[in-house]
Amino acid sequence: MSLSGLNNLYREVILDHSEHPHHKHNLERATDKVTLKNPTCGDVINLEVNLVDGKIADIGFTGEGCTISQSSASMMTDAVIGKTTADSLEMAQIFSDMVMGKKRSDADLEKLGDAAILSSVMQFPARIKCATLCWWALRKSLGEDVDD
Ligand code: ZN
Repeated sequence: MSLSGLNNLYREVILDHSEHPHHKHNLERATDKVTLKNPTCGDVINLEVNLVDGKIADIGFTGEGCTISQSSASMMTDAVIGKTTADSLEMAQIFSDMVMGKKRSDADLEKLGDAAILSSVMQFPARIKCATLCWWALRKSLGEDVDD
């Protein structure tokens, strides 16, 4: 995918996350592991979560995929680490709404941290699944019913 349609700052942040992904490793201790694939692009994510007392004490991912899928997973892990299950699921919903073009408040979008930058993938409908794959993996690992 060419990212040339994106604003330079957004492109830099996205590329930085994909080249130096945060929390891209296996966990020593995980309470749940989920693998999801996005066959249209070839993205694969293996997400591991360690829930302690209803909070994401640690989170890590492995797998491979395009720039968007990798940077989205890196941004997501930054955003949800230390958060409660309920807060994380709310963030997943905010992210989904954002990339589908549904209006959310600025305060909601701020909760996503860098991940809010991925609102720009709305310009590329074919890439929305790349951005949401990790969030679906998160939902599933937190016990939501998700079709794979
Ligand atoms: Zn992709």
